[in-house]
Amino acid sequence: MPRNYDIAELKRLDVKHHLPAQQDYQLIEDMGGSRIITHADGCYINDGDGNRILDGMAGLWCVNVGYGREELVEVAAEQMRELPFYNTFFKTVTPPTVLLAQRIAGLTGGKLQHVFFNTSGSEANDTVFRMVRHYWKVKGEPKRTIFISRWNAYHGSTVAGVSLGGMKGMHAQGDLPIPGVEHVRQPYWFGEGFGQDKVQFGLDCAAAIEERILAVGPENVAAFIGEPLQGAGGVIIPPDGYWQAVEAICRKYGILLVADEVICGFGRTGEWFGHQTLGFTPDLVPMAKGLSSGYLPISATAVSSDIVEVLKTGGDFIHGFTYSGHPVCAAVALRNIDIIEREGLVGRTRDDTGPYLAAALARLDEHPLVGEIRSLGLIAGIEIVSKKGTNGRFGGKEGNAGPLVRDRCIANGLMVRGVRDTIVMCPPLIITHQQIDDMVEIIGKSLDQALPELRAIG
Ligand SMILES: *Cc1c(COP(=O)(O)O)cnc(C)c1O
Repeated sequence: MPRNYDIAELKRLDVKHHLPAQQDYQLIEDMGGSRIITHADGCYINDGDGNRILDGMAGLWCVNVGYGREELVEVAAEQMRELPFYNTFFKTVTPPTVLLAQRIAGLTGGKLQHVFFNTSGSEANDTVFRMVRHYWKVKGEPKRTIFISRWNAYHGSTVAGVSLGGMKGMHAQGDLPIPGVEHVRQPYWFGEGFGQDKVQFGLDCAAAIEERILAVGPENVAAFIGEPLQGAGGVIIPPDGYWQAVEAICRKYGILLVADEVICGFGRTGEWFGHQTLGFTPDLVPMAKGLSSGYLPISATAVSSDIVEVLKTGGDFIHGFTYSGHPVCAAVALRNIDIIEREGLVGRTRDDTGPYLAAALARLDEHPLVGEIRSLGLIAGIEIVSKKGTNGRFGGKEGNAGPLVRDRCIANGLMVRGVRDTIVMCPPLIITHQQIDDMVEIIGKSLDQALPELRAIG
């Protein structure tokens, strides 16, 4: 049972001392402090005000095995007793770190046989950034420094992460991106290609990458980076053929291909990795979130043998973190992968719960507010529109409906996010049919409740 916290006091202290992530501090003060999440089990979180909420977001796209896994607690405690910390700077490594590298290499397969550890998804992308540029220098093509990414991509919140990402609001804070990152259009059919042939739209988006490569000079381009499907950007699933076209373009110009699997990794799309579901072969794979199901912070960057062979000729690669390969995090990640395997959560997502979610969400198809429903495995998005059959938005601009419906869902007992006007969800991979039905019922009810308020906006 949870401890008996003084919730009012915690909220007061939250306002007074704590600065939350990606938030409006004044708004938190005005609402009297953040919601205090005290404890959780399975697919449910509980707050200090006594609300029990179905976690449609798996924490923040990460708690793939659900809450309350006693064996993850045990393995962390065991590892802490035996060896709480050691580094990988001193020609040293710890047993769980080596074993986790082997384990990840087995899952990524092919040439992705080497793993660099970090503690967050952002750092995994910082590692990509530095490693790729260093690789090209060692290889004797030092002009290859440019990264090509997409608008509305999310690659983290560090300087490299925000720069690689394509969130304009984030760029505006901190004078980013740093030089050498080029952004091209995203394969967001509903928002930017509505009415066009979907597959052709995807191919046009891929062609935009080639156009940019030619504009900046292929000899200057280091890599293309993309999420197999965009998560934080609003669960944007690219049209069929997009990734195959992107891969062909990267190969044509000898450009490295980076799949940011921070959300898609570890079963989310019904395979271990999103690039396996979507059918392409990257050279580097940053991953995080589901790697430890969020129980401890750890991320990894899987790297192809071709790259590592070149790096071996370059002496020290002067990059890495105090906590790279942290033994306790690695031990927990290993056991987390054990759980995913033992319980068959990847196959279950592909064959059972993923299709079940898609079928359940289809019940909302006829709702007057629903413009599009898209899902792949256990990640989904619902577009809210002002007029059925269009991609029009309430108040004539994006962002009025998403937060409103999101707040209704939370008040009705379901945690989801509102990205602009898309309600996104990403439940734990252990979710049951009944819980999926509950999710869809709450969303339907919340849409009904939001309807008059949205109509008032016009
Ligand atoms: C969450 C996320 C990141 C950043 O991970 P952090 O652990 O928050 O630094 C990077 N890329 C993608 C695709 C993400 O979803």
